[in-house]
Amino acid sequence: MAPVFMLTIFITVFCSVQGRSFQKTSFQMHQKDMEIEQSNRIEDDDFSATTLIEKANRNLGQRLKEPLVMFGDIAIHTGFRNADPCTARGCKWPKSSDGNVYVPYVISNQYSARERSVIENALQSFARSTCIRFVRRTNQQDFVNIRSLSGCFSFIGRRGNGQDVSLQRNGCVFTGIVQHELLHALGFNHEQTRSDRDNHVQILLQNVIRGMEHNFAKINTINLGTPYDYNSIMHYGRFAFSRNGQPTILPIPDNNAVIGRATQMSSTDILRINRLYSCMGLQE
Ligand SMILES: [Zn+2]
Repeated sequence: MAPVFMLTIFITVFCSVQGRSFQKTSFQMHQKDMEIEQSNRIEDDDFSATTLIEKANRNLGQRLKEPLVMFGDIAIHTGFRNADPCTARGCKWPKSSDGNVYVPYVISNQYSARERSVIENALQSFARSTCIRFVRRTNQQDFVNIRSLSGCFSFIGRRGNGQDVSLQRNGCVFTGIVQHELLHALGFNHEQTRSDRDNHVQILLQNVIRGMEHNFAKINTINLGTPYDYNSIMHYGRFAFSRNGQPTILPIPDNNAVIGRATQMSSTDILRINRLYSCMGLQE
């Protein structure tokens, strides 16, 4: 295995939210989007992808065989924490001569037909607005291996050979979470760890669960000239890892801005993919 991959950071998202259908979630979020008055209670964050992920990950790392999880849903095999910079060192997926970026995948037969359909539709959603093409693996060496392990997790960027993307049944099989995990696999970090995040959010460590402070560490990300995006599917909510019901991430200067409630990729998430992978002639 090439050294670059030995240094790659892995992202793990574990989710186990029971008994909520995606349709219900999507509908409720749509209803909320329609509201003129936007409140910022914990309850309002209930159905965002990142909140579902956090809930699912709550008991992670308490079993010995689970990967070390950092940044909320990032599992790390080495001491390196920067992930996005790996995209400058070879962890991007290769671009084909036709301009597309083919990412082979395998979906475990653990899933029901409905779950498989949710996953495949989410994979195909990338093709509608980017040059990423998730294709069923035939004999490609590098691929994402989607299966139901304990929680939801993905590595950051291409690691080489088969790399697990875990989407636990009864918890992670929602469009937004699938997109979130695959964005990690494409090389993206959480929005609130961006290098310029201090201009857009204030981290209130005094409200963070003890021992979880590392989730708010800043990363020397490559931001691709894209704006900081509160509505990114990669942005955590204002109460992420709160130990006391008080906010842990406060948007600035407008403390009332809505953050971390996305249920699907934002236009900025899409722009970022297109820039990182030079889709449609766009450059980094
Ligand atoms: Zn994540």
